[in-house]
Amino acid sequence: MSIRLRLTLLYSGILVCTLVIFSVVLYVLVARFSLQWQERALAEEAAQIVTQGEFRLTVIRTPQGKVAIPQTFVQTRDLSGQVISRSINLNGYELPLSSQGLTALTNGQATGWLEIVRTDNGRLLVYSRTVTANGQPVGILQVARPLADLDQALAMLRRYLTVGTVVSTITAFFVGWVLAGASLRPINRITQIAREIGQARDFSRRVDYDGPNDEIGALVTTLNEMLTELQAAYQQVEHALQAQRRFVADASHELRTPLTTLRGNVELLQREPPLPLEEQRAILADVAAEIERMIRLVRELLTLARADAGLRPRLEPVQLGSLVEDAVRQAQLLRPRPVARVRVERDVVVRADRDLLYQVLLILLDNALKYTPEDGMVEATVVVEQGRAGIAVRDTGIGIDPAIMPHIFERFFRGDSARSGEGTGLGLAIAKSLLEAMRGEIRVVSRPGEGSIFTVLLPVEPASAEGEAQAAPSLVSPA
Ligand code: ADP
Repeated sequence: MSIRLRLTLLYSGILVCTLVIFSVVLYVLVARFSLQWQERALAEEAAQIVTQGEFRLTVIRTPQGKVAIPQTFVQTRDLSGQVISRSINLNGYELPLSSQGLTALTNGQATGWLEIVRTDNGRLLVYSRTVTANGQPVGILQVARPLADLDQALAMLRRYLTVGTVVSTITAFFVGWVLAGASLRPINRITQIAREIGQARDFSRRVDYDGPNDEIGALVTTLNEMLTELQAAYQQVEHALQAQRRFVADASHELRTPLTTLRGNVELLQREPPLPLEEQRAILADVAAEIERMIRLVRELLTLARADAGLRPRLEPVQLGSLVEDAVRQAQLLRPRPVARVRVERDVVVRADRDLLYQVLLILLDNALKYTPEDGMVEATVVVEQGRAGIAVRDTGIGIDPAIMPHIFERFFRGDSARSGEGTGLGLAIAKSLLEAMRGEIRVVSRPGEGSIFTVLLPVEPASAEGEAQAAPSLVSPA
């Protein structure tokens, strides 16, 4: 059952109950007061007859000249209940008196006795009372009036109240139906729009509403806010999916290239007649280099996949001085080219995962050594900056073109100068992911032809934060 119908039935039900209660109470009160008024009038009439000692049946002439006989009937009985006399308008009929009434009156239990009797012409109100002489009861006087007029008036009242209740209920039902429909119309519209949005997955659409800021206004505002959130989440998921697809495509492309080279080389080695030994050795060296590259690529892909799946770094106090020294030594072993220096003016302890930070440092040092000519210089410095500390890796290498700067942290991005080299384009992306997992940050300043500074910053371990801050180096500052 719809809310509209339920509301309408509820209003109408409440109205019917109210009207029925009101009508019943009104009817009962009117009926009771009218009867009481008749009873009092009859008792007064009886008292008048007793004081005047006679009853005269006066014929009333109406303005139209018609003769009307009063509707009061009078009868007298002796104390045994025998009828003595009666007014002529009774036409020989007898006013009844129940044995209970007779007993009550003759025993002195009551001075007046009221009875309603049913006759062929309707109800009759009969009032009986004792007549006394010298303080002793001598007979019974009975006065009666027909209740036909009252009954007729009450029947009419009953009819009016019934018809009024039915008509008011039907009217209220239709008015309620229209009003409920009007107040629920915005909700129907919201439902319709929400359904359309769901079907078309068009989360950029909004529910337009220019009504007051009532419950429906609040519903529309909330719904629109929810749509904004949903749109943002949907876009985020869409971007993530796109990035994931791009990543998978790039990864398979990167893996296919060395595999194709390997297949070509193996085919060359399988050739009949075999290639000269000299060439075979050169091909095997190529194969070994290619396999090495693939191993590195797969390892880096794995690191990134782990970082994407939500890395849980083991954060602990890490002493930067020794870490930098170890990393520089290791980087130089792997790439024993330009001179790399370590400058640890003072040691600082940061909160980080030692292994992950070491991996980041190796990436930065390897890049610095890779992109710096033989006569250049690479330097790693411990830096401190307002509650954070870290390492700056500075080189006097080829620098980074401002045009590619926004992309260097993207996965598989390689600058022009790096394309022919052995880089995979994943190093900086990995460094950024690992640092984010440790609540750290990476910054870069670079000038083409002059060199670059990559600065890694992490939260300082509270005990080691004292002392004046030493700003992270910039290319122009005398580092
Ligand atoms: P790659 O394996 O190519 O080094 P990275 O993600 O480590 O991948 O770096 C992305 C790109 O950023 C590199 O291809 C290079 O163009 C640029 N780059 C990174 N570090 C340096 C640096 N120290 N000097 C100059 N260019 C750099």
